Amino acid sequence: MSAMRIEYLNLKKINAIRQEEISEMTSKVIDSGWYLQGHYVAAFEKAYASYIGTSHCVSCGNGLDALKLILLAEQIRGRLHPGDEIIVPANTYVATILAITETGLKPILVEPNAITLQIDDKLIENAITAVTRAVMIVHLYGRCAMTDRISSICRQHHLLLFEDNAQAHGCTFTMGKKTGSLGNAAAHSFYPGKNLGALGDAGAVTTNDKELAGIIRALGNYGSTQKYVFPYRGVNSRMDELQAAVLLVKLKYLEADNQKRQMIADVYFSSIDNKYVRIPWKEDTKPCGNVYHIFPIFTLYRERLQDYLSRHGVGTMIHYPIPPHKQACYQELNDLSFPITEKIHAEELSIPCNQSLERKEAKEIANLINAFRP
Ligand SMILES: *Cc1c(COP(=O)(O)O)cnc(C)c1O
Repeated sequence: MSAMRIEYLNLKKINAIRQEEISEMTSKVIDSGWYLQGHYVAAFEKAYASYIGTSHCVSCGNGLDALKLILLAEQIRGRLHPGDEIIVPANTYVATILAITETGLKPILVEPNAITLQIDDKLIENAITAVTRAVMIVHLYGRCAMTDRISSICRQHHLLLFEDNAQAHGCTFTMGKKTGSLGNAAAHSFYPGKNLGALGDAGAVTTNDKELAGIIRALGNYGSTQKYVFPYRGVNSRMDELQAAVLLVKLKYLEADNQKRQMIADVYFSSIDNKYVRIPWKEDTKPCGNVYHIFPIFTLYRERLQDYLSRHGVGTMIHYPIPPHKQACYQELNDLSFPITEKIHAEELSIPCNQSLERKEAKEIANLINAFRP
């Protein structure tokens, strides 16, 4: 096999593609002498709301804050109360669960469907109790988690619907509707490694709810609605002008970047063929939006496959090795059993999938995987 060197994710390489334009924009911010709550943040919020298809976008410090600000704002407005239950997939990044517990709410974990890897909509109704107030879906790996059934359950049971869209910028549900516009509010992370990534921390909430947007905007700025007037006890969670300027540049190329990810994923779908390795979504019965933030493969021999790929110059990651309910920080959840989630976390291995990869490299990675024997 030829010697190759493909890192799992090389942010230097990714940002070098737009280096000139990014530098030009960041220079303008530096020269302006205005670094927070200015022109670039306003321009990014407007552009991103329009891209997602919502009337409002409120930027904030990061994705976890975006999630928490939504849940705090709904409590201020009286639509959620301390102790209320929020239905959420058991297989997600811990941030989704942290946002719920750290705002005084209770996560009710629901297993994913083994094929879609998203919350199993057939199990949601069983999880509803007298104090269930909301469903938080997570478009994990970049694949849309929304279904018609979820929207009818929420309508029927008067549940709020929130989206964790940290991994799915640009993903579509049906009729061109983007994830991030499908429920009452959605949280976005622009962590550097995300499909739309800043050069540091940044996040946002999108919503069509004007009142909610207003409360979230105030909460992220000390709870202030006008200078030195504080109707709420807020936090300091703001996107800065430099990150907004970077994101304005990168937003223009998000569609093209996501198409590149699709192309890489297509190579994997058509080329990976090894009885020891399962590839995801092959049995998806309905076409479904996916922006391939992560391309997960599954094997009983994860450590061996990871070592083998590493020896052949290919970097991989595990998303994620331990599910939230088995973490030491959630001892109250440790005794719960979610076999599908646990199997996913035990067998998952993420292979390189991003806009800096070439078709030829994806093909070589597939060939390597095909030659793997445990
Ligand atoms: C990245 C991520 C977050 C948190 O975003 P940060 O900007 O790192 O706070 C939340 N949920 C999911 C599913 C994520 O992947």
